[in-house]
Amino acid sequence: MTLRNGKEFLMIPGPTNVPDEVLRAMHRPAVDIYEGPLLETTDYCLAKLKETFRTNGKTYIYASNGHGAWDAALCNTLRRGDKVLVLESGRFALGWGEAGQINGLNVEVLPGSWEKSVDPKRLEDRLAMDKSHEIRAVLVVQVDTASGVWNDIAALRQAIDAAGHPALFMVDTIASLGCMPFEMDAWGVDVALTGSQKGLMCPPGLSFVAAGPKADEAHKTADLRTNYTDWTFRQGAEHYQKYCGTPPEHLLFGFRKALELLFEEGLEKAWRRHALLGEATRRAIEVWSEGGVVSFNVSEPHARSNSVTVLKIGEGNAAALRDFTKEVCGVTVGGTIGDLSGKGIRIAHMGHVNAVMLLGTLSAVELGFQRLGMPHGKGGAQAAMDYLAQSL
Ligand SMILES: *Cc1c(COP(=O)(O)O)cnc(C)c1O
Repeated sequence: MTLRNGKEFLMIPGPTNVPDEVLRAMHRPAVDIYEGPLLETTDYCLAKLKETFRTNGKTYIYASNGHGAWDAALCNTLRRGDKVLVLESGRFALGWGEAGQINGLNVEVLPGSWEKSVDPKRLEDRLAMDKSHEIRAVLVVQVDTASGVWNDIAALRQAIDAAGHPALFMVDTIASLGCMPFEMDAWGVDVALTGSQKGLMCPPGLSFVAAGPKADEAHKTADLRTNYTDWTFRQGAEHYQKYCGTPPEHLLFGFRKALELLFEEGLEKAWRRHALLGEATRRAIEVWSEGGVVSFNVSEPHARSNSVTVLKIGEGNAAALRDFTKEVCGVTVGGTIGDLSGKGIRIAHMGHVNAVMLLGTLSAVELGFQRLGMPHGKGGAQAAMDYLAQSL
């Protein structure tokens, strides 16, 4: 017996639920790439991206997933053999570092934990040791989608300043932009990047990079530049140059609509929505944890992100639970990846997600625990509701 027929929810940390309005905005014929509505769409998207990143810097749009934005950030600002320091807090900054290695950079990892945010003091100490300023860039993710860790970007900036170090500060906000506060200029971030398919509610296929003045300066002497990613060419006067060729028209029409939705809600209100849904999720997990099998992956409460929560649920349980929520209830929750592979689930509360979707998901997970006989504290979904009742 299943209860699956109905609206399916996709509660994985990317790609995320795409609003019907965004899908409809893409359902139209192709248009001229030299004149007409596309040009205005480009201007709108580039300008609204600045507002989303909170920067006066330059913004760029790539027809790529997040990995393409990683390349674009590095290749536009660095030189072959440059040393970059990657701050570990899960899987994704390491992946960015691996991309850097292949692109010709000399990558050092500041070892961290999958259970804790990056320690600003350790960053400060490492940079203070680098008297010759050999490290040219510091790479970090705001939210690591594999571990569920949230990093305090403002505190990491302060650590760089405390060490008096000139390295470029580059932040991957793929799993956080549009979901939680990010202040590129106020926090002194030199390069920020994100993707379309997570907090920004679009299909995969677009990525975005924002560059501040220090990154522009570094660009002048960067020698890893590639034709497709190159900022200089993309600053050219012709519209097609902004995309280095044919623009990904339909994705842009969808993205424009997604930005309209985000700004109709209000960016701060979207952050608040994610904070409420994130905390509601954590309240549920606190209760489930009382059964001894379920636990948070991230040990420090302040380091738990508002866009995705990673739960450990004991070896062997994850696949059965995910099958149950999907096949019987119609909601897909994420599996764990990397070092946590097979050991837990990831519940995304990211992007186009509301109370019904979140409470429904928590209830389906709790139903799964019960149905499958997995020891858990009862009343997690109730605790989530209690929290929302008092917070709304
Ligand atoms: C999803 C994700 C990526 C990778 O993005 P792709 O679009 O799959 O290339 C990188 N960093 C973070 C933090 C992510 O969540």
